[in-house]
Amino acid sequence: MSKNLIIAIDGPAGSGKSTTAKIVAQRLGFLYIDTGAMYRAITYMAIRNKILDDQRKIVDMAGKSEIELDFTDGLTKIKINGEELTDHIRSIDVNENVSNVSKIEELRKILVNKQREMGTKGQSVVMEGRDIGTVVFPNADVKIFLTAIIDERAKRRAKEFADNGTHVPLNEIKANLQNRDIIDSNRDTSPLKQALDAVVVDTSNVTIQEQVNTIIDEVHKTANKLGIELNIN
Ligand code: C5P
Repeated sequence: MSKNLIIAIDGPAGSGKSTTAKIVAQRLGFLYIDTGAMYRAITYMAIRNKILDDQRKIVDMAGKSEIELDFTDGLTKIKINGEELTDHIRSIDVNENVSNVSKIEELRKILVNKQREMGTKGQSVVMEGRDIGTVVFPNADVKIFLTAIIDERAKRRAKEFADNGTHVPLNEIKANLQNRDIIDSNRDTSPLKQALDAVVVDTSNVTIQEQVNTIIDEVHKTANKLGIELNIN
């Protein structure tokens, strides 16, 4: 392959980004980068270090932290300064605080730089988040904006919690998703926003396989235009 491709997948909480992006990356043999995991890991550390209400300390901590993201066998693992935090970053506590931490402008600068570094290491990537197609990689080769109606998104999150042995009431999950979307969409720095040139994929009534195929078709079209041959599994 002559050029490395950047596939940006953005969308609101629970729209199916992670599940979809992982399969797309696996089928294309691209690197998968879950930027939400980075904001979540910093939030977890801020809770643990009891510095949630001190933005300067959060930025300081993030600036000094070595963040490692690894994706192997369908699993994203995240480490901060060598400590594996994967099992902690999807807790209710983190869900409730992550959007307020993600509003911090200086923190976003640090993580966006890191994401740009990760995305330009000589390999094609699928990167998912809220601002990938607008801010992190505004020149991404393919931009996808995933959406789904709120009730569907809440049901999916409830199932994820249930599959992990935790019962969380549907109305609580729905409230958290709505709250995060409001904060994420209204912050000053790189809000959740559909890029003008993004392809919108509504996942409310389609199977994961169908949404994956739609995205792979888009990547295929772009690769053809650029004369790039893909090995799709
Ligand atoms: O994607 P996920 O739901 O795991 O993201 C968790 C939170 O991290 C989001 O609600 C948002 O506040 C923040 N985030 C962000 N920018 C990104 C990815 C995630 O602000 N690129």
